[in-house]
Amino acid sequence: MSSSEQTFIAIKPDGVQRGLVGDIISRFEKRGYKLVAIKLVTATKEHLEKHYSDLAEKPFFKGLVTYMGSGPICAMVWEGRDAVKTGRVLLGATNPLASAPGTIRGDYAIDVGRNVCHGSDAVESAQKEIALWFDKAEVQSWKSAQHDWVYEK
Ligand code: UDP
Ligand code: MG
Repeated sequence: MSSSEQTFIAIKPDGVQRGLVGDIISRFEKRGYKLVAIKLVTATKEHLEKHYSDLAEKPFFKGLVTYMGSGPICAMVWEGRDAVKTGRVLLGATNPLASAPGTIRGDYAIDVGRNVCHGSDAVESAQKEIALWFDKAEVQSWKSAQHDWVYEK
């Protein structure tokens, strides 16, 4: 079974402001995922409109783009087996009030419009999002010394 699936995870401006960067990175690290790209970026309106193009018709779209552009975002790519689906499990439900304790949103958020983190929802959207946020050279290929302690096969 491949351990090389990649997902785009972002700590939104509220998560950065609230000092949650370290905790969120730790959760992915401790689970066994490998960090292959990371940067702090304040995204433009145009960039965010591309990132959320599927939601352009939603009533919350304008507010979402304003929120996401209101400060730096910690953009990351995490790699490992089932990284996209399991990344979403680590995040919790979109609405934090429906997120179980133990998830990032379930531990740190209340309002859907301030839900602290983003995670790709499918392998295909992950590939699109990684290409939108990172140049190829910014995504590292490296073998973690822990690999064989995290994966039996
Ligand atoms: N969002 C919102 N109001 C809603 C639904 C979504 O403000 O009623 C915001 C929320 O920050 C969410 C983002 O829009 O994370 C993207 O929505 P999506 O449905 O893709 O949820 P996600 O994939 O982030 O869980
Ligand atoms: Mg989404």
